[in-house]
Amino acid sequence: MTAVNAAGWRPAIGEAGDAPPAVATMSGDRGLMLEEPLSFELGAPGKCGVDLDEPEGAPVAGLARFLRRQAPALPGLTEPEAIRHYTRLSRQNYAIDLGPFPLGSCTMKHNPRLNEKVARLPGFADVHPLQPQNTVRGALDVINQLAHWLVTLTGMHGVAMTPKAGAHGELCGLLCIRAALEARGDARSVVLVPESAHGTNPATAAFAGYRVESIPATADGRVDLAALKGRLGPDVAAVMITNPNTCGLFERDMKAIADAAHAAGAFVYCDGANFNAIVGKVRPGDLGVDAMHINLHKTFSTPHGGGGPGSGPVVLSEALSPFGPLPFTARTADGVVHLVEEEDAEAMGHAQGFGRMSAFHGQMGMFTRALAYILSHGADGLRQVAEDAVLNANYVLRSCEDVLTAPFGASGPCMHEALFSDAGLADHFSTLDVAKGLIDEGFHPMTVYFPLVVKGAMLIEPTETESRAGLDRFIASLRSVAERARAGDESLHSAPRFAPRRRLDETLAARKPVLVWQGTPGVPGAPALSEIGGS
Ligand SMILES: *Cc1c(COP(=O)(O)O)cnc(C)c1O
Repeated sequence: MTAVNAAGWRPAIGEAGDAPPAVATMSGDRGLMLEEPLSFELGAPGKCGVDLDEPEGAPVAGLARFLRRQAPALPGLTEPEAIRHYTRLSRQNYAIDLGPFPLGSCTMKHNPRLNEKVARLPGFADVHPLQPQNTVRGALDVINQLAHWLVTLTGMHGVAMTPKAGAHGELCGLLCIRAALEARGDARSVVLVPESAHGTNPATAAFAGYRVESIPATADGRVDLAALKGRLGPDVAAVMITNPNTCGLFERDMKAIADAAHAAGAFVYCDGANFNAIVGKVRPGDLGVDAMHINLHKTFSTPHGGGGPGSGPVVLSEALSPFGPLPFTARTADGVVHLVEEEDAEAMGHAQGFGRMSAFHGQMGMFTRALAYILSHGADGLRQVAEDAVLNANYVLRSCEDVLTAPFGASGPCMHEALFSDAGLADHFSTLDVAKGLIDEGFHPMTVYFPLVVKGAMLIEPTETESRAGLDRFIASLRSVAERARAGDESLHSAPRFAPRRRLDETLAARKPVLVWQGTPGVPGAPALSEIGGS
């Protein structure tokens, strides 16, 4: 716990010691916004939340060398202290169940509780991937049904269900492309990626062993078709296009891009992470796409954030399907779903598969959520998801473009996200000030400084979750903060003023992260670094 200073108030951790917070209190708590020390600072040696008997008798033969020589360095907490500690921490977490999460390129939308209920059914939640297949037919059937709907919704030929995230799916798609090229004895070394691509695209292509070449964007934020055609040639293995792209725009030339790529012997990879904007409206297969990952955790339910969980099935064209990874599910003539693995691959006509993306069948919990989402929405509901997501983004775009610059606002409607830039803010005011100002207004900020093609970008994705009234509240706050930033209102520089932490030194945090607690001076009972396993 931080010391009380001469003026009688405790600075919150990370706050400059000489700048009192807007409201100072004895406890450090502000109203019901509670400070929380680390569990080591909270606890005291010798306290314990459980009451266990000392073990009696000699240790089990052969295990003596595993006996602890000293007590573990655990914080000494009673049960209520431990419960309160974690509950207080959980209240410091902003979540989609608390309010809007307008992060562009992230698709943070409401996760219907029905899907949670389904995912927790013991027949799905408590199965083991090595169980005999005839004990998990229902689970395999779910994977197969979901695969069927993903193929149907995208107009593709096959699908690899095992990739565990969007970026993992990209790798799967590129490995299929490489296997297909190798099978025809065609060594190609370059993958073309537009400037506005999601950062994972060039990273994936490089990881898969390709040289990445960038294709410029046009003034209206789309792939420069002429430049792309000019670069296609016998060394190009694939083009990777994000559609809708990271500027929130539909790549209108997708079919022409695919035709040109195919004519040059290259494959078309589509980053389909933004499929929620077009689901039920556009089938990527009709646009000539050869491989596309779908982020189940963005388009089809599943809460995500903080690194997981994820699931990135890859739909494949007829040309690429024979090269997809194992295992996959197949339905026999008598309707039973079974798993195709290495030993049956040849008999199933899948001898050319490139290998495995993961040890087992993929993310079962996400498959059940996604299938529940698809079936409970139905065809009309899924179409409405896309329509409402796009309508909401355009509502934000048109409601704010007089106070925030919309770099591509003149080129027509956006798709699922609205893009603004810092042009038009007063000198010394930035995108960061707008984001921090939104925190004081009670909103999680939008994605900032991405995509990189737009200076000072602010990318807002409301998703279909938000109601008209909810959007109006958000828009009123965003407009107010934007107007302060345009007018040069200095108080915005000290935002957030009402959050548990003020503006932190993010550069220092990134450059010199403190990853292991080093003890708090003056706090008795703090274990030394060596005791908590740090190095
Ligand atoms: C989220 C996203 C990805 C990466 O997906 P992960 O599941 O985080 O690996 C790739 N491309 C786009 C356009 C995305 O929005």
